[in-house]
Amino acid sequence: MLGLMQDWPLLCHRIIEHAAQVHGNQEVVTRSVEGPIVRTTYAQIHQRSLKVSQMLDRAGIKLGDRVATIAWNTARHLECWYGIMGIGAICHTVNPRLFPDQIVWIVNHAQDRVMITDLTFVPILEKIADKLPTVERFIVLTDAEHMPQTTLKNAIAYEEWLKEADGDFQWKSFDENTAAAMCYTSGTTGDPKGVLYSHRSNVLHALMANNGDSLGTRAKDVMLPVVPLFHANSWGIAFSAPSMGTKLVMPGAKLDGASVYELLSTEKVTHTAGVPTVWLMLLQYMAKEKLTLPDLKMVVCGGSAMPRSMIKAFVDMGCEARHAWGMTEMSPIGTLAALKPPFDTLTGDARLDVLATQGYPPFGVQMKITDDAGKDVPWDGKTFGRLKVSGPAVSKAYFRVDTEILDDAGFFDTGDVATVDADAYMRITDRSKDVIKSGGEWISSIDLENLAVGHPKVAEAAVIGVYHPKWDERPLLICQLKPDVTCTRDEILQYMDGKIAKWWMPDDIVFVEAIPHTATGKILKTALRDQFKTYSLP
Ligand code: ADP
Repeated sequence: MLGLMQDWPLLCHRIIEHAAQVHGNQEVVTRSVEGPIVRTTYAQIHQRSLKVSQMLDRAGIKLGDRVATIAWNTARHLECWYGIMGIGAICHTVNPRLFPDQIVWIVNHAQDRVMITDLTFVPILEKIADKLPTVERFIVLTDAEHMPQTTLKNAIAYEEWLKEADGDFQWKSFDENTAAAMCYTSGTTGDPKGVLYSHRSNVLHALMANNGDSLGTRAKDVMLPVVPLFHANSWGIAFSAPSMGTKLVMPGAKLDGASVYELLSTEKVTHTAGVPTVWLMLLQYMAKEKLTLPDLKMVVCGGSAMPRSMIKAFVDMGCEARHAWGMTEMSPIGTLAALKPPFDTLTGDARLDVLATQGYPPFGVQMKITDDAGKDVPWDGKTFGRLKVSGPAVSKAYFRVDTEILDDAGFFDTGDVATVDADAYMRITDRSKDVIKSGGEWISSIDLENLAVGHPKVAEAAVIGVYHPKWDERPLLICQLKPDVTCTRDEILQYMDGKIAKWWMPDDIVFVEAIPHTATGKILKTALRDQFKTYSLP
């Protein structure tokens, strides 16, 4: 027997309709790419996204067609998201930090028909535009006054384009499983892979993000997503914040410590989210200028492991540092380290121990850890296993790739290695390809990196395995020091000594000017492995 409830498809554009109707006057503040701070509301964003839909519809963009955006976090970008999804087209967010050749590959693979971009990226796109045959038109997110001379095909300033629409347009209803958005993983090995979100998965993910032990913002909160809309859906914030009527502060192109601080402070931001690199810049800037952020309640940090020293810095500021783990394939939330009882009453190091884990999954994500044969390993906080997940916002396949990506039980292998304790708190010990295999035993590169960055002179650290004749691999620690300090190998080794098992101690330390990063801000270990391929340990 079926239930007697309404068939109300979970469609992304219903979120902005709700925000406009119920929280219409709530502000969305943007540091515009042109410079000034601009203010709009959910009601206006809704109106203008209807115009985007109307114009795309007029241009013949149909259900299932791909429309790319290559743009910063701004209100205009948000309007485009809802406008594209509202007509059942697919919003393909392209990461501008990728190499131009990767952008070409991705846009051609996705067969994007329209490309919406910021002023910043016009020069990059002009260089590759002749290799993008499927793109019929470029729309530049600016007004006529700031529109540059450009060779981009059929280019038009966004504000001019919108002037041609009156907004008298109805969004359609369609199956909630219709594709809504896509995002390619950066593909440090092999070709990038397209993750294709559905309306249903995005809406369910937004509800998951809204739970109090997840991102948990309310109508009275102010959220600044530093994490870009092109990085795994900005962790769903473009959906979760409007669905709650949370004020959004969009940082535009400026993500340095001073600029992020300024917005956090002047807009009285309560919640923010981003990768560790961004917080490193913010904390360094705040320490140098002796600044505080009394309104900030929560910093959500994921994408890479949040070092313990960073968690402590935020906790000491009186702000909750919520460690999150996830991936593009998971929309992306997987786990969050909220403090459940009895851990919420812990203080000092014991509290940091729990906050430093990657946390536990919200309802909607199921996880397990297995050995190489696929057999579950115990949740004892010690046994390492391959981390696998399933849920309604987890990928079951990649776009236009036939390979099976789920195991027999329907779980997706994340490629991460983790332990889970009896309270379901998960700890990532490594990417399966980064774990160091020393004499048949595993050493966690992440644990060593976290420890090394706790040294007051170290800005960033990376650990890779290098060849060792007896042990196969041994850890090499690569350090980038803070500006204007000097430090010796022995100082760091002495600091680490006693804090980890003796056999985990790095065999050597090298100092580099800068640690390379991927387009999503993770340490680019492939480049380091290449650089130190022939390194001989002492
Ligand atoms: P990519 O950057 O390759 O496009 P994602 O941004 O989806 O892909 O990265 C997902 C991966 O990032 C995870 O599988 C995990 O290895 C790593 N990651 C994400 N969050 C954390 C975290 N809090 N701690 C450690 N690793 C993390």
